[in-house]
Amino acid sequence: MAKEATFYENVERNFNKAAAYTRLPEGLLEQIKLCNSVYKMKFPVKTGGNDVQVIEAYRVQHSHHRMPTKGGIRYSIHVNQDEVMALAALMTYKCAIVDVPFGGAKGGIKISPRNTSPAILEKITRRYTAELIKKNFIGPGLDVPAPDYGTGEREMAWILDTYLTLRAHEVEGYGCVTGKPVSLNGIRGRTEATGRGVVYGLNEAVSYKEDMDALGLTTGLAGKRVVVQGLGNVGFHAANIITEYGAKVIAVAELEGAIYCEDGLDVKKLLKYRKSNGSIIGFPGSKEIKGENAGIEVECDILIPAALENQITIKNADRIKAKIIAEAANGPITPDAEEVLLKKGIMIIPDIYINAGGVTVSYFEWLKNLSHVRFGRMNKRFEEFSQNNMIDVMEKATNKSISKRERSNVVRGASEIDLVNSGLEDTMIEAYQSIREAKKKKNIPDLRTAAFYVSIVKIADAYGSMGIFP
Ligand code: GLU
Repeated sequence: MAKEATFYENVERNFNKAAAYTRLPEGLLEQIKLCNSVYKMKFPVKTGGNDVQVIEAYRVQHSHHRMPTKGGIRYSIHVNQDEVMALAALMTYKCAIVDVPFGGAKGGIKISPRNTSPAILEKITRRYTAELIKKNFIGPGLDVPAPDYGTGEREMAWILDTYLTLRAHEVEGYGCVTGKPVSLNGIRGRTEATGRGVVYGLNEAVSYKEDMDALGLTTGLAGKRVVVQGLGNVGFHAANIITEYGAKVIAVAELEGAIYCEDGLDVKKLLKYRKSNGSIIGFPGSKEIKGENAGIEVECDILIPAALENQITIKNADRIKAKIIAEAANGPITPDAEEVLLKKGIMIIPDIYINAGGVTVSYFEWLKNLSHVRFGRMNKRFEEFSQNNMIDVMEKATNKSISKRERSNVVRGASEIDLVNSGLEDTMIEAYQSIREAKKKKNIPDLRTAAFYVSIVKIADAYGSMGIFP
């Protein structure tokens, strides 16, 4: 039997498919595709008494065409060099698509966060940060980590604290990591940004009548039947926010199994239920779905895989009955599986676009840290003042007045969260339009190849402007 392709090889295969639509020189394509720096480290951590555990960890900077490099840090027992390289490469393409001016990077520590105590996790995180500092693999202008699978605000706070301890005089030090708690100069809206971005992207994708007609769907998210795999940070927020647009989450799959409810699941209650019961199975009003790929095979309009890579493979692709798949996770569909899905006429909205909301808001956070001021702080009151003046003038001119309530509905200066969400929405809409246009113009059959194409052309442009390539 032929050896299964690795995750990194799969990313390269997707890249090559898109590169064939460009006329760029081979050497330049090679430079864009390959990982620029790979740092593999091993370090000891005392786990109690005289016990020492040797930790394996990575940081990969895929592309230095723009600095700093950017990407999350994953804590998982399955972390390996190939996976981190693949994820770092995806970050490069993702940043280019949404015009976030960074190269791609990713980190990983081979540990099980569920089976490691917070005290040991903190030691590991701090030592990992110190190792990165030693090799110049972290810094606001060098490489800026963020959360990924198995990490969150808490880990980012440890990274920040370690960095600021060792680099105490850096005025821009807070920009060394994103996804921090708001109380430590993080930004409002970052936690839900990836999930929110998925919904903004989907909302744009389903707005084109021509595209929806081809799928036998109506336009708009309202009434769409959605299945979500993974109730982690990304899956939960995507599921929760999509219901605000009138869609129904009819099934959810998690590690312990899957549940179904045609009327739609209340995902907020479901998350609480899982926290107190350790499982989604038995959630009131839902039915358990049994079977190996339970959940993702449910017939639906939109399937959102929001767990890990390699979830839809050649083994289960022919059983997927969704019309649209939005890759909230990185790499959930293998290229062989994708061929099967595309033949079935399924629209696949690729990871490098649809889950870019996280890094987009990370970029806003980094900007906030470098400028040392909260978005909206300087202009909120001024905007309100001008809007009030405008209404006064109109009242005078028309000899009519509006109620206090009407006035307070109209007069509103933008706060940080308003600006973050509108900046995110605008980014997701523009990026989708650029992919859709490239797909049409170059006659590219699928959205992933079109997204890679857009990305490769932008990165090549950056190299061109540096004068490195003609
Ligand atoms: N880990 C996230 C991703 O895969 C976010 C990266 C970031 O914010 O830098 O896109």
